[in-house]
Amino acid sequence: MSVRIKVHNLSFRYGAMEVLRGIDFMVQPGDFVGIIGPNGSGKSTLLKNMAALLTPSAGEIILNGKDLRRWPRRSLARQLALVGQERSAGFNFLVEDVVAMGRYPYQERFSSPKEADRRAVERAMHLTGCYHLRERELFSLSGGERQRVILARALAQETPCLLLDEPTSFLDLGYQVELLELLQSLNREEGLTIIVVMHDLNLASRYCGRLLMLSQGKIYACGMPEEVLTRDHIRSVYRTEVMIDPHPLDGSPQIIPFAAGAALRQNHGCPKVHIIGGGGSATPLINELVLAGVPLSAGVLTVGDSDWATARRFGLEMVEETPFAPISSARHQDNLALIKGAAAVVLAPLFIGPGNLLNLEAAATALEEKKPVYLINEPPVEERDFTGGRGIELYRALIEKGAQLITRAELGQIARPEEREGN
Ligand code: ADP
Repeated sequence: MSVRIKVHNLSFRYGAMEVLRGIDFMVQPGDFVGIIGPNGSGKSTLLKNMAALLTPSAGEIILNGKDLRRWPRRSLARQLALVGQERSAGFNFLVEDVVAMGRYPYQERFSSPKEADRRAVERAMHLTGCYHLRERELFSLSGGERQRVILARALAQETPCLLLDEPTSFLDLGYQVELLELLQSLNREEGLTIIVVMHDLNLASRYCGRLLMLSQGKIYACGMPEEVLTRDHIRSVYRTEVMIDPHPLDGSPQIIPFAAGAALRQNHGCPKVHIIGGGGSATPLINELVLAGVPLSAGVLTVGDSDWATARRFGLEMVEETPFAPISSARHQDNLALIKGAAAVVLAPLFIGPGNLLNLEAAATALEEKKPVYLINEPPVEERDFTGGRGIELYRALIEKGAQLITRAELGQIARPEEREGN
């Protein structure tokens, strides 16, 4: 028992309003697909088309080789079960009767339930944690309990594929994670194919194998969570600035929003600044400049150090060196190449050791190329030098060659040169 779904050039309109356009994708048996996208982007409409509750205006949906429109209702209900956004069953039934409704594709009209039906209903109630509610009336339940009953009804349908529309929306955090882990285990252990509309991008990222990002009725991005959940995609589709860190357990991208998209737009078109740092010295500078909307690059940073993690979080273009290795001449050249592409360079107050003296040389090269170089010397270089004086010498030479000492507080001004000149 498996399902293969092909959505081909699907369009859908409500009256004159086109809500989905040119949607193309495949669902393979055993997939766990998350449909994400802002409010009104067409997620529910797509799911309802896939559940044959709505009929495409153009294009087609093929289930196991046959157009959805040609499937008899009851056979289709043995393939696909839908957990929609409607949380009521219309009438105030007992919970076990609601769950038992999931068995309708297997029952003859007016026949009494068979042993297999009873087993499926019980199992579904146990899996979703609503067995103890079985004699309660649906209307007496909380939103979250009702949600689990509706999921139980879908599981009682024993289909190879589940379609769910924001199944975690009324659940507290504990139940959200529990429900997604249940879906994950049904997917992994029983091979259930799952297609779920999700609001929470971080949960979608952690649990879905593949994401489909909709924007204004079209597929904006499709692929693994790390391919879909990028800063650029989220900025364009959700108009929000985010940083992205890998989940500590499985590396799935986790999103931390920090500003509305419009807040940073005023500085778009601002020239790029290259930050030289390491060991955490550049992190507050990067944070501040990102918030000011300044496009940045960074280098040479050591893989795994906190500046490297900060640069990665913001998706900055950067030069990375292996931990414990001195900066190699190849990485130094890469750093110079990024500096060439920037309008100015900021040297963070990094600790200076024999392994990273080339970072100071890079700042010297920038000066030779007539780029403005800003030094933040807090704490002073004398307290940061571990090269027996060579670092201090190079630092002082930078100042002699025209590098400008600025304070942290003045940093924002490098994004607004006209203000600096006015001072
Ligand atoms: P999402 O699930 O991404 O929030 P929907 O699929 O619910 O988006 O809605 C997509 C667009 O279709 C929205 O503009 C919405 O207002 C419109 N829409 C949804 N349902 C209907 C309907 N029954 N009649 C008319 N327009 C609708």
